[in-house]
Amino acid sequence: MQQPLSAIPKALTPSRRTLMGPGPSDVDDAVLLAMARPTLGHLDPEFLVVMDQLREMMRAVFQTKNDLTMPMSGTGSAGMETCMVNLLEPGDRALIGVDGVFGTRMAEVARRTGAEVTEVKGEWGRAFTADQLRAGAEHDRYDLVAVVHAETSTGVLQPIPEVRELADDLGALLLIDCVTSLAGHAVKIDEWGVDAAYSGTQKCLSCPPGLSPVTFSPRAVEKMDRRKHKVQSWYLDLSLIRGYWGEERSYHHTAPINMLYAMHEALRLVLEEGLEARFERHARNSAALREGLAELGLEVRVPEAERLNPLTTVAIPDGVDDGKTRRFLLEKYGLEIGGGLGPMKGNTWRIGLMGAGSTMQNVTLCLAGLKDALS
Ligand code: PLP
Repeated sequence: MQQPLSAIPKALTPSRRTLMGPGPSDVDDAVLLAMARPTLGHLDPEFLVVMDQLREMMRAVFQTKNDLTMPMSGTGSAGMETCMVNLLEPGDRALIGVDGVFGTRMAEVARRTGAEVTEVKGEWGRAFTADQLRAGAEHDRYDLVAVVHAETSTGVLQPIPEVRELADDLGALLLIDCVTSLAGHAVKIDEWGVDAAYSGTQKCLSCPPGLSPVTFSPRAVEKMDRRKHKVQSWYLDLSLIRGYWGEERSYHHTAPINMLYAMHEALRLVLEEGLEARFERHARNSAALREGLAELGLEVRVPEAERLNPLTTVAIPDGVDDGKTRRFLLEKYGLEIGGGLGPMKGNTWRIGLMGAGSTMQNVTLCLAGLKDALS
């Protein structure tokens, strides 16, 4: 028999925080309001217009003409898995740069496809050079080279054009993770010759978590069309999902309608601001944050030329308690910053200035909070 509830919980009234961790980032009210619009059917003619506009806006933000550009229903990891399971199959080879948590995850997801994976291990907190990646290759030919463009665990921005040259030498498609870079740093899919990319809504797009924009070049689509094995995941099989997002509009799974409204509004706001202006804002505010951190005597990790603007990693001074400091900031200032992951756990803070949250006001609040916490 079903147990009766001791009491029905009250309606939720979450606190309004300032989210300056590694994501989710602060969401613009206009995006939250868009989610509250009436739910349409997923094949309603009005909703089909929303879908087309979404795809157009995604192409603009990814800086691509790729026809196969769409949101996956799921968070950034679903986008990662979509790319791996559709682009790799048993017998394929993938070369993956691993210099943080998300490179590690890419390698793990790639191995589960049955492909042979060569992990090239890099230093956490540094970008790869193409020569480092080349030196790690165990074969002359690969099907896929994959790197993380913005490693959220370390705060490193990976240059892409030289990795494209390496992928060309190996005869491989190039996949990038731009979960933390999209709409915060330039992601030039066509100019760089990227074949596949995935992102997430909850970072510089400033939308709640739950969708993963993906894009695939015509070459990547050809590789999918030549597959010998069925994609191992039914839910993420693009040969099926393309039927819904393409001309046929055939049912695959029920699209998360209101999340897609939110993304529609978030993309609209990005394009209204303008990509260049948005990148410049992210650069300006993170420069101010780093300057302020230096004035507090805090050391910013990652050499300057390799730093991310949406996420700054900071060494926690000796003798300072990570958990206590973050709790103090949350309780006194309503401010969330992130702790470190993997080898950076307990010795690094991750401070996000992403999307709507990349403001001088947030820089000032964070510096004031840290000064107070460390005094
Ligand atoms: N890749 C990167 C670089 C990330 O920062 C994240 C999440 O923080 C992911 C992948 C996974 O995304 P999600 O947590 O939305 O599944």
